[in-house]
Amino acid sequence: MDLMEYQAKELFAKHDVVTTLGTVVTTAEQARSAAEAIGGTVVVKAQVKAGGRGKAGGVKLAKTPEEAFEHASNILGMEIKGLTVNRVLVTPATPPVEEYYFSFLLDRANRQYLCIASVEGGVEIEEVAKTNPDAVKKIAIDPGKGVDAAKAREIATEAAFPEAVFEQAVAMIEALYQVFVKEDATLVEVNPLARLADDKLEALDGKVSLDENASEVRHPDHEAFVIREEEDQLEAKAKDKGLNYVKLDGAVGIIGNGAGLVMSTLDVVAYAGENHGGVKPANFLDIGGGANAQVMADGLDVILHDPQVKSVFVNVFGGITACDEVANGIKGALEILGEEASKPLVVRLDGNNVEEGRRILADLNHPLVTLATTMDGGADKAAELASA
Ligand code: ADP
Ligand code: MG
Repeated sequence: MDLMEYQAKELFAKHDVVTTLGTVVTTAEQARSAAEAIGGTVVVKAQVKAGGRGKAGGVKLAKTPEEAFEHASNILGMEIKGLTVNRVLVTPATPPVEEYYFSFLLDRANRQYLCIASVEGGVEIEEVAKTNPDAVKKIAIDPGKGVDAAKAREIATEAAFPEAVFEQAVAMIEALYQVFVKEDATLVEVNPLARLADDKLEALDGKVSLDENASEVRHPDHEAFVIREEEDQLEAKAKDKGLNYVKLDGAVGIIGNGAGLVMSTLDVVAYAGENHGGVKPANFLDIGGGANAQVMADGLDVILHDPQVKSVFVNVFGGITACDEVANGIKGALEILGEEASKPLVVRLDGNNVEEGRRILADLNHPLVTLATTMDGGADKAAELASA
């Protein structure tokens, strides 16, 4: 789960990373009041889960509450990288003298943590990495050892934090590492880590991704970071129904059982799509072991409400839940959905009781359902239907 800047800063504050929380608001009037309460010059900052807000015009200085009102009016409703801004953060303006970049992340490939630091922050780090790669330091962290004061010092030295802020940088690095491990984050990023006029270091921006595998048991408190109305509506609906669903960009809806089978179905559909104008899978949806009518109906319900979906490929291997049960599940789902089932379905069943399963669907003789005998054949048919 990615956090918004203001949420990331809440976690920063919890672990003693120097930052200013500011006030999050959803209307321009509230932005004016917040600016009044803070006093002096403030910054009005778009809160969306994307970087580059400054460049997009989503970060503005306001010298008066009236200016804060105006900026908030402009920023609220604005789109940044396809995301609508529904809230802004009003926070004291503390103009940086220098901007540094700092992050901890999970380095899956090397099975360790990685720290990336640069005293040339502020702009996008990818840009610095291209134009001046030597300025971006990468320091491996052994997860077993972590970051203690000595390691933090080593990192600060490697990154070449200036003398005047060096000790603060060391403390900041240790505190950020606490955010990273204690909150089970996969990314903690600060850009800019700012040197202010009085040589104080402060995290002026924050980006945190939390590992959702840790939410339920280790971090029930993280649930509070979920903003329902900001979530993808289909993903939220799928989550409510306990489905394992990830929305993608294509036109062929996919339902399968077992993550491995669904993954290969995505590949096969993408491959088949190349012969049909480049159509692609519209989602990942694993209905798991119990492919009964309700689960199938829930899955179809989510997929059919994706306006991008033109056809659906149901690819199920009958194991513990045999093919006849799956077929009855599809039959039941079509009854439950009625008129809402409005897009063609290609169904490929194999495994236990496959003959019986296919017979049930053949007898059903539903105008929207096409039976396929092979995975490749089904993928091809679904891609063809989606490209029509
Ligand atoms: P993004 O990374 O999405 O563009 P930032 O929070 O980093 O958003 O803001 C962009 C730039 O705005 C920063 O690099 C910094 O120069 C400036 N800025 C951000 N917060 C403040 C602040 N509180 N006071 C003054 N300038 C700020
Ligand atoms: Mg930033």
